[in-house]
Amino acid sequence: LTKEIKKLEKLRTVSDIAASISHEVRNPLTVMRGFIQLLDDDHLTNEQKKFYISISLEELDRAESIITDYLTFAKPSLENIKILDLKKELKYALKVVKPFAVMSGVDIEVQYDADVYIAGEDQKFHQCIINLIKNAIEAMPEGGKLIITLQKLDSKAVINVVDTGIGMTNEQVERLGTPYYTTKEKGTGLGTMVIFSLVKAMRGEIKVDSEVGKGTRFTILFPTVEHSDPFFEEIVK
Ligand code: ADP
Ligand code: MG
Repeated sequence: LTKEIKKLEKLRTVSDIAASISHEVRNPLTVMRGFIQLLDDDHLTNEQKKFYISISLEELDRAESIITDYLTFAKPSLENIKILDLKKELKYALKVVKPFAVMSGVDIEVQYDADVYIAGEDQKFHQCIINLIKNAIEAMPEGGKLIITLQKLDSKAVINVVDTGIGMTNEQVERLGTPYYTTKEKGTGLGTMVIFSLVKAMRGEIKVDSEVGKGTRFTILFPTVEHSDPFFEEIVK
């Protein structure tokens, strides 16, 4: 089951999404405010207090997840374009997710076949890769293996993130990237939307290949830049 993701064109602009996210963060904050007000009552039982506190904390976590999944949209466009050394940028992203992988019993194997350079923004690239890896790890609740590869094929940088997790049905793959689509109890459904928008902004493509019970492969491709490109030096400056 291989699906070309064609939703990239349909995505709203980044700033539209940013507006809807700030709206989204306001919901949990409003709920928290309400429960904190309820806590200000001397007649509450211990149980009631605990209940109000636990809901407030849950909502706080939710607001935090929304902001985390969504972090790079704070900036409206790809304004800090640089030449990215993908090997170096992947290493950085892996360092960030390592503790989460260890905690989840997931073994990460990395294969770098080539030195590959693209034009993009490092933070946005990290955000894509981190969201992909986070989802892959969350798809392996019993632990498992995650393989990340970097290759250069023709003039494309090809990154594969392959997990041995729960996989997805055709319908689930179709819904990827739709805002707020989540199958997780505490999910935000923003991670893949962020990935799709950022890949689009960096003129890339995404492919998804998934099988229920076996695992999922996300492939992202970006046009490479070469040292010989006249604009290589220009961008590096
Ligand atoms: P969230 O992770 O908060 O649920 P995402 O947008 O990151 O939101 O992902 C949306 C949904 O896509 C997930 O809830 C999950 O059902 C599915 N998904 C994404 N990546 C994978 C994966 N590697 N394996 C299985 N399902 C996945
Ligand atoms: Mg996610």
